[in-house]
Amino acid sequence: MSAESYPLAPWNRTCLETCADNHPLFRDNGDWQQQLRDAIRDPQELAALLELPPASLGCATTAGFGLLVPRAFAGRMRKRDRHDPLLLQVLPTTTEANAAPGYSADPLAEHQLARSGALQKYPGRALLIATGACPVHCRYCFRREFPYQSQTAARDNWETALGLIADKPDVHELILSGGDPLTLGNARLQRLVDAVQSLPHLKTLRIHTRFPVVLPARVDNALIDLLESVRLNTVIVLHCNHPAEIDDDVSKAARLLASSCNLLLNQSVLLRGINDDPGTLVQLSEKLLAAKVKPYYLHLLDRVNGTAHFDVSESRATQIVNAMRSQAPGYLVPTLVREIPGELSKTPVT
Ligand SMILES: *Cc1c(COP(=O)(O)O)cnc(C)c1O
Ligand code: SF4
Repeated sequence: MSAESYPLAPWNRTCLETCADNHPLFRDNGDWQQQLRDAIRDPQELAALLELPPASLGCATTAGFGLLVPRAFAGRMRKRDRHDPLLLQVLPTTTEANAAPGYSADPLAEHQLARSGALQKYPGRALLIATGACPVHCRYCFRREFPYQSQTAARDNWETALGLIADKPDVHELILSGGDPLTLGNARLQRLVDAVQSLPHLKTLRIHTRFPVVLPARVDNALIDLLESVRLNTVIVLHCNHPAEIDDDVSKAARLLASSCNLLLNQSVLLRGINDDPGTLVQLSEKLLAAKVKPYYLHLLDRVNGTAHFDVSESRATQIVNAMRSQAPGYLVPTLVREIPGELSKTPVT
């Protein structure tokens, strides 16, 4: 695939050019890469598919982080509904240009902390920015202004990043993050996993991914084989915010993953106008359970520029989670957390 046909924003072109999955050695059999190339990038096209007048959408062209949504995900949006909860997660609007007090490019103070794509904030676990690319652009993403060009542990850089982790024997868990680490093809992912597994002090490999939800074809046989061959504990954390994101294909992909890893979890972001009511979140938890996924975290919004319209106040969030607890068993209630820079873990909100 050429740079032009690959659905990446300009800010991660560098990753594209250096980690080129287009090398014949790295080409996979499945059609997920074709689906990724074929993702929707034109708001006009999305409007037409959803039978909405484009003018009603308040679309914006957002330099570097434009619309990107796989057709498999767009197909779950309701037609003729401007307020569809899946559409609101991906549609760039003019509202994003509004500055808001307390919002910044780097609300979690990560940009200075990352070293060659390795990031450690918490004792015992470290995170690897394995790529800057994602299968979808979530408008509320806290890494939407992350300096991926200089901070991606791609290809030639893995060694540097993993070298840093090799020097920290107290790190027992490595998290592959990004971007979305499953953007790497299976062959490249295997090489990365092999390199990770050569670090003797690691016990657990964790993968944070939105792929199985937005493009479930990514969960192909080769990926399942890869996961089953890992000798470390494997934890997969999905990212799904609304029950309408889970259709039969997603459910099937999740069940496959559940059978090939040690623990399958989900994290959500609490988003105003999308999932900020207990009924919706309980329904999400029930659908996750049916797909063998345990709800893990419910994150309060990280205050990155352009996302203030998604914010839910801490007091409202607490009410929502308390209401969930009265409607569902404890194992279906995720932990409400906020990330505060400098803290040694996510901070539970009670
Ligand atoms: C969220 C996060 C983790 C994982 O935290 P857990 O509470 O273990 O899920 C690890 N490293 C970084 C940098 C994080 O932001
Ligand atoms: S998939 Fe994750 S990293 Fe990528 S845009 Fe969405 S929230 Fe951000």
